[in-house]
Amino acid sequence: MKMEIPFQDLSQSRDVALADLEEAALRVIRSGRFLHGKETENFESELAAVCKTRYCVAVSTGLDAIRLMLRAYMEAGQLAAGDEVMFPANTFIASVLPITDLGLTAVPVDVSEATFNLDFEEVKRKLTPRTKAIVVVHLYGTPAWDAGIMRYLNDRGILILEDNAQAIGAEVSGGGLHSTTVTGGLGHCGAISFYPGKNIGALGDAGAVVTNDPEIARLVRMLANYGSEKKYYNMARGYNCRMDEIQAAMLRVKLRNLDKISERRGKIASLYDRLISNPAIVKPRIIPQYRQVWHQYVISTPERDRLREYLKENGIGSEIHYPVAVHKQPCYNEYFKGVEMPVAEKMSGQVLSLPIANVTEKEAGHIAEVINRFQSMVALK
Ligand SMILES: *Cc1c(COP(=O)(O)O)cnc(C)c1O
Repeated sequence: MKMEIPFQDLSQSRDVALADLEEAALRVIRSGRFLHGKETENFESELAAVCKTRYCVAVSTGLDAIRLMLRAYMEAGQLAAGDEVMFPANTFIASVLPITDLGLTAVPVDVSEATFNLDFEEVKRKLTPRTKAIVVVHLYGTPAWDAGIMRYLNDRGILILEDNAQAIGAEVSGGGLHSTTVTGGLGHCGAISFYPGKNIGALGDAGAVVTNDPEIARLVRMLANYGSEKKYYNMARGYNCRMDEIQAAMLRVKLRNLDKISERRGKIASLYDRLISNPAIVKPRIIPQYRQVWHQYVISTPERDRLREYLKENGIGSEIHYPVAVHKQPCYNEYFKGVEMPVAEKMSGQVLSLPIANVTEKEAGHIAEVINRFQSMVALK
């Protein structure tokens, strides 16, 4: 019988004991407290401890976390409409929407083919006197970090803002702006997503902002609560971006299992790395001095669409992250007119994410075997 392996299965029993989630949900239902309560408060300190930051504000989504982070720096007078904010050209659109929404100028930077992350030489080339911030995306769970460049940017007063949606618990070796080596806390401020498909997923939407800056933490919290610190007194035109108590309770259970979750993903990634040997397939780079958390295991080949179809015929699900680069999206037709990002555009035609969230070692072995039998039609050099 053919093995059927979905790309991802969001039923909850994989990473945590279901009874723990049920007990936590019941606790919230019975408490009668659904916002601004103990679960959220405790989750915030537990997440700050994971990211090794002084402050954490639990919010509604990853997208909102990025928006609140940028707005907070605008309220603080450190960013203003028209300022240039860089971002990696292969990221998910949520990294960019808040930049353009807030009237900041979004500047795409091409990425490195070796790491799928920001090309730091390109970052330097794209700097202008109006560059005021960079959104660093640790795509697929691999830290995008170069201590030398980050110090260079920091010395020039450029804000280093991390989109850590895909890399909770990842680490670099040395060299954050502060003492921590954990992503999210490396730069001035970090945003995290708990979308159900993320490494730590809520049972719905949730996100968080982490920082060591008390004023930015205060502003994020205020903006997420209608711009208010005292009920019915509004200091800024804010939003309603609070985290639900029930999501905080679910996330506390998940967060306790973060190491287990990261290790399991790491084990599957190293299995793929060891077992996939088809010369037509380029595997993602394992960076021994970093801790990668493998949100996705992304291979690439010019024959991506054929490979995806072939995997499907063999009962194996896969995904494309992402098929269209942000600057090529219809909603940005005018905004990024004429922009070319050769590496990011090439990647969008060649990348393929293999199942990693909940495959067993046996399934990973089977997937590698199927991939190794894929017949390339392109003569390889
Ligand atoms: C998921 C994701 C987001 C947005 O998070 P949501 O919680 O879905 O709003 C932002 N950036 C990146 C890189 C993501 O993968």
